[in-house]
Amino acid sequence: MSFRREAFVPKGGPDGGDGGRGGDVVVQADPQLSSLIDYRYKHHFRAERGTHGQGARRHGRDGADLVLRVPVGTVVRELDAATQTPAYTIADLTQPGERVVVAPGGAGGRGNIHFVTSVRRAPAFAEKGEPAREHWIELEMKLMADAALVGMPSVGKSSIIARVSAARPKIADYPFTTLVPNLGVARAASGQSFVLADVPGLIEGASEGRGLGHQFLRHIERTALILHVVDVTGGYEGRDAEQDYETINAELAAYASELASRPQIVVANKCDLPGTEDAAERLRALAERDGHAFFAVSAATGEGLDALVSATAAEVARLRAAGAGEGAGAEEASERWERERQRRERGVHVAREERHAWRVSGAQVERMVVQTDWDNDEAVAYLQHRFARSGVDDALARAGAVSGDEVRILELAFTYEGAGAERVEEPPEDARADDELAARIADEGEA
Ligand code: GDP
Ligand code: MG
Repeated sequence: MSFRREAFVPKGGPDGGDGGRGGDVVVQADPQLSSLIDYRYKHHFRAERGTHGQGARRHGRDGADLVLRVPVGTVVRELDAATQTPAYTIADLTQPGERVVVAPGGAGGRGNIHFVTSVRRAPAFAEKGEPAREHWIELEMKLMADAALVGMPSVGKSSIIARVSAARPKIADYPFTTLVPNLGVARAASGQSFVLADVPGLIEGASEGRGLGHQFLRHIERTALILHVVDVTGGYEGRDAEQDYETINAELAAYASELASRPQIVVANKCDLPGTEDAAERLRALAERDGHAFFAVSAATGEGLDALVSATAAEVARLRAAGAGEGAGAEEASERWERERQRRERGVHVAREERHAWRVSGAQVERMVVQTDWDNDEAVAYLQHRFARSGVDDALARAGAVSGDEVRILELAFTYEGAGAERVEEPPEDARADDELAARIADEGEA
């Protein structure tokens, strides 16, 4: 609160500038990071606060944002602190540099220049800054591979990832040796590298939750390219290569129709074994029919793997470039989260604590109270006006409050002077007087 000083004018016009806004707490995906270890032991983070406004309409300085860096592929959720369970998914940071504001800085209080009206020419009050917002969040790092090896059990997926990367998965003759997806970094002759995932074998019915395949289909959801591996020897239980290929595609489609149209490279494996040429050629024809690239390889001898890795690297680079524009989704995530928070905060809750005493709660209402300078009558009068506008008076009237009742907000008590009926002494047999009576109302704008 400040007034202009002018020669010969006892009290110049109001000229108090606004306080600076507090910094935002931001979570940002950083391709340099590969784990959430930084958040293992340190759990509290705060952005900088803004500074006070000053006279001569000078604004306070804004507080600096606090940026929490996390690996690409981190899912950010709101955590219900009481139950320790995730309450709301705030964002899925899948692109390098993607960011979300998890706790926006509070607005600075407005200086007294804002409170001039036709009847209040020299407002002797200003507004306090918005109190800081706090949230518990949960960070989960999800598998982020560029390409996933998918196929029936024992077709050689683990053998391929072992050959083209430093990953050392278990390789065996029986299905489902791979229970956890393995990740490996493969590098093409061009120098381009990509992250490859070895997803455990899919079997028929996986999309309906049969077998172990289902839980692993989740991982493919986040992978832009599928390397569909087929055993062209007929392999395990004498299967047929073409039939296996169709079965896996049907499983992908059944899990999510969008997975069926995901870019795919078809890989015929075990081509070192005799009598595989025919099956490989028939598979090539199917792949071409579906518009997929085709490679015949052998994880045993390494034949064809360099060409496969080069083609995969090139396709991954192309898909990354195509997906680069999707970062726009992050801005939406911040806005969506902000809208969700505001929706919750607008709620006004009225509960009867005693026959003539009511408790009013709600983030927005409580914030108004905190922002008010109680030593200043004008500020208090302004608060009353805000109460009416935000629906507090209506909510009290609807709950049955009468003039003269006590209204409690946080640690403060007010006297209700609403339009409700005058207090009349009721007979004491009103047994329900102490029952909690709740009335949720929406903000004027929402209603
Ligand atoms: P996954 O279940 O798809 O991960 O398959 P694995 O990589 O565990 O391989 C299953 C079996 O096939 C193992 O006995 C491997 O040694 C064998 N295998 C994998 N690739 C080839 C290949 O290119 N040629 C031959 N002859 N055997 C292979
Ligand atoms: Mg395996």
